[in-house]
Amino acid sequence: MAKPKVAFFDFSCCEGCQLMVLNCEPELLDIIGAVDIVNFREAISDRGEDYDIAFIEGSIITPHDVKRIKAIREQAKVVVALGACAHTGGLNKLRNFQDTEEAKKEVYGDDAKYFEVLPKVLAVNEVVKVDLAIPGCPINRFEFISVVKQVLAGAKVSLPNYPVCVECKYHENECLMLKGTICLGPITAAGCDSRCPNSQWPCTGCRGMIANPHLEADQITLSKAGLTVQDILRRYRLFYGYSEVVK
Ligand code: SF4
Ligand code: SF4
Ligand code: SF4
Repeated sequence: MAKPKVAFFDFSCCEGCQLMVLNCEPELLDIIGAVDIVNFREAISDRGEDYDIAFIEGSIITPHDVKRIKAIREQAKVVVALGACAHTGGLNKLRNFQDTEEAKKEVYGDDAKYFEVLPKVLAVNEVVKVDLAIPGCPINRFEFISVVKQVLAGAKVSLPNYPVCVECKYHENECLMLKGTICLGPITAAGCDSRCPNSQWPCTGCRGMIANPHLEADQITLSKAGLTVQDILRRYRLFYGYSEVVK
């Protein structure tokens, strides 16, 4: 039986998620045996345009990106958003809270006039249908391997829809909020094995919100910790820029 052909494509991002894929090392060897990788700019020089599964990294920010992602969608049977930039727009969506021309000027200076960008940064699913998303900034490489294996087996992939706090409690971490550090774990989707709080870093929400976050309770807790409404919005906007909550 022919192996499925797999391609990786990057749009606007830091390419850190593709790097995480390369970091899988031993586990990646299992997958490489089961698929043909035909396009993966960070790893190989081949540029195959015949593929079944497309992993998309990065956000859609230019008219050219829109055309390119639509062409990829037409070719691929399965489109997987890889990482926060592709999944929700990630950090890139911070630009949506600024004036586009001012943001361009800040980044490109006098060359800004040469760059045509969309009025808003878009996640991939705002332009084409996405079959599956692997969240995180960057992705969790173990989750990547697990999801790929499930996709190859034709299984229905389901990711956790409970908060990071659950994993944090499982690790018996002392809650950072009790020590005066603001943490978004209560409303952020788990699946990273509470990577940040395990190392005494607060969760900043990179996997996006759980489906039904208890926002009122979170905002009361954050207010009690001394945050103003503007402070809370600023923190939410870092990774929840896709959500109506922060509009
Ligand atoms: S999700 Fe984060 S690590 Fe991945 S490409 Fe975007 S900015 Fe980089
Ligand atoms: S440190 Fe963060 S993730 Fe852990 S229990 Fe406290 S709020 Fe939840
Ligand atoms: S703890 Fe929060 S910020 Fe850290 S990896 Fe997990 S979801 Fe992302």
